[in-house]
Amino acid sequence: MERLKSQDAISARKGLSGTNAANAVLLDHNHANMGDCIFCKVIKKEIPSYIIYEDENFISFLDINPKAFGHCLVVPKEHYDDIYSYREKAGASVIDAIRTVCLMIKENMNCAGLNVVQNNGRIAGQLIEHIHFHIIPRFEKEIGVNKRDFKAVLRMIKGESKA
Ligand code: AMP
Ligand code: ZN
Repeated sequence: MERLKSQDAISARKGLSGTNAANAVLLDHNHANMGDCIFCKVIKKEIPSYIIYEDENFISFLDINPKAFGHCLVVPKEHYDDIYSYREKAGASVIDAIRTVCLMIKENMNCAGLNVVQNNGRIAGQLIEHIHFHIIPRFEKEIGVNKRDFKAVLRMIKGESKA
């Protein structure tokens, strides 16, 4: 209901109706927080990160505050706040990007399993309002490397050293 009200307000401001109004709302919603978005800065390489995978549409890098060894994120390069506003570009499948990173992790880190998690809204634990997917590897035994030794974790995920 709230969203409908805000759609009406934006449409009225722009003098739009129908599909044009809906698209205008989507654009306003998508780009509202881009200016100071941390992940947009990571994507533009204004903030350094430990990059696992990158293509035209997606980037994957290590989470700076890992919940587990090898915890990383897959992030669409285009800014969308959350799952509600997210739109996939033709030929840019987010599940393919996630699977690519999951396979790298499974093969090179030899994890027993992994979680893919995506949070929406503060109450659900979303801190960064740029849609992202957590990949959290799970191991049966302790890895003898600190999960915050990002260079070592990156080498392992890329298959440059063994777990
Ligand atoms: P969420 O709580 O789902 O919004 O997840 C945001 C995640 O982004 C958290 O796990 C943070 O540790 C992580 N994070 C925040 N800033 C950075 C950064 N500059 N580089 C890598 N990970 C980050
Ligand atoms: Zn962003």
